[in-house]
Amino acid sequence: MARAIKPRVGMYENVKNQFEKAAEVMGLDESVKKILSITNNEIVVHFPVKMDDGSVKVFTGYRVQHNNALGPYKGGLRYHPTVDIDAARALATWMTWKTSLAGLPYGGGKGGIQIDPKQYSQAELERITRRFTYALGDNIGPEHDIPAPDVNTNAQMMAWIADTYMSTKSPSERSKNQHVVTGKPVGSGGLEGRDRATGFGVVVTLEAWAKLNGTTLEGKKYIVQGFGNVGYWAAHFMHKNGAILIGVQDATGTLYNPEGIDPEGLLRYQTENNTIMGYKNMEEYDSDKFFGIDCDIIIPAALGNQITEDNAATVKAKVVAEGANGPVDTDGEVILLEKGVDIIPDILCNSGGVIGSYFEWLQNRNGEIWSMDDVIVKLRKKLEDAFNGVINTSVQYKTDLRTAAYIRALSRIEMAYKQRGIFP
Ligand code: GLU
Repeated sequence: MARAIKPRVGMYENVKNQFEKAAEVMGLDESVKKILSITNNEIVVHFPVKMDDGSVKVFTGYRVQHNNALGPYKGGLRYHPTVDIDAARALATWMTWKTSLAGLPYGGGKGGIQIDPKQYSQAELERITRRFTYALGDNIGPEHDIPAPDVNTNAQMMAWIADTYMSTKSPSERSKNQHVVTGKPVGSGGLEGRDRATGFGVVVTLEAWAKLNGTTLEGKKYIVQGFGNVGYWAAHFMHKNGAILIGVQDATGTLYNPEGIDPEGLLRYQTENNTIMGYKNMEEYDSDKFFGIDCDIIIPAALGNQITEDNAATVKAKVVAEGANGPVDTDGEVILLEKGVDIIPDILCNSGGVIGSYFEWLQNRNGEIWSMDDVIVKLRKKLEDAFNGVINTSVQYKTDLRTAAYIRALSRIEMAYKQRGIFP
């Protein structure tokens, strides 16, 4: 079957275009601009892993560390065929902006392995993850570079990373290293609510957007691309707000039902069948027409470069909430903005995930255990503050939301460099 979500390349071009635009509008300091135009470190590791059939395979893993002016590098690891140095650079750079915008004491990093995890057994994935962690060695660390889940990686894998990293330390040091990775299972230092943090955050920003526009999410029709951790939890919280899911697309196909699709039923079906196709006998919808579905809200929550000059003109929604990183490319964005479509930019919209990670890191570092209620209240506050800040900046500079978000993120980093100067 043709894959419904077509991965494309060139994300690093997009992040650079976005950066250039904001730097121009705000008049970013030239030296700071030079520093932020390139990544600090790019780590590429090749490592052998024994497969279940006894053969040995060599894998390539990446970790790009874009900038750490505000604190340790922070960002996920993804397992996907599209992972390469270009993608890792783009995603690491977005993390620098995202953590800065959220007011976290972090920089940005991202990495992963170019694999389709569906091709491997659970035991193989464990060995791949552990050997990758070992190969990265002290290029990661709880006060240096802290990975987390991303596309196709999960809490179980984070537990393997923590365990492998901690096992390389002397016994007395081990427990001090639990926060080398976030997004761990709750029983292993993970945070209650980290699993839903990104999807919840997407919906908090949409609630804020609706309020700003004098409305609510109740009765609004929306579509979701990607039904993984971000897409499902976003749909879960949209449902709680009374919004109606009418279209879902993932790598297995595209569903459309103007009467509404139950996110919980779809999750149960997907868990049992490993596909969304066939749910309640719904017909497959033309995947190329997905973003043109007549709806109020689009939540792209899968891969980058999905709304482009090929399909942006067909968008009928009033707002695109970027659950994924980089789902709208530069050309797509120009078309959407001309049409008057609001874009809640990824570095704001999906920042609930890394904010949740920050809470988990604090929890581990301070030897605390936070409750779900605490997490949800604190997450909402941080996201609403960030959202309101972006709106104020967009009014002040008379610019779009993405550029406003960049201006806020870049200003914080610029100030740190100005206060500190450049060594030596
Ligand atoms: N992978 C997520 C992101 O892109 C979370 C990163 C983190 O928690 O460090 O924001």
